[in-house]
Amino acid sequence: MKTWFERAIFFSWYCSIRDCAYCYMSTQPKTKKAVRSQASILAELIICKKLKWKIGFISGGIKAFSKREFRDLLKNMYKVTA
Ligand code: SF4
Repeated sequence: MKTWFERAIFFSWYCSIRDCAYCYMSTQPKTKKAVRSQASILAELIICKKLKWKIGFISGGIKAFSKREFRDLLKNMYKVTA
């Protein structure tokens, strides 16, 4: 039997939709835009890479970042994990 550690990387607890009853983000206040810093996300990825943990998926809410911020984040996430 083979086992491994795996992480889900969340980039926000904020979502602009917030009307999906099953989703935790729908319970979050509308006024607070809770997003992680890019540094925090990249640090988590670096630690996962060093420990050889797989990344299960990357997730967060709609419009947590601007398109430019999100593109930059994804580029940097790719650089860290490549
Ligand atoms: S993150 Fe997805 S599932 Fe959750 S409230 Fe936003 S759109 Fe709905």
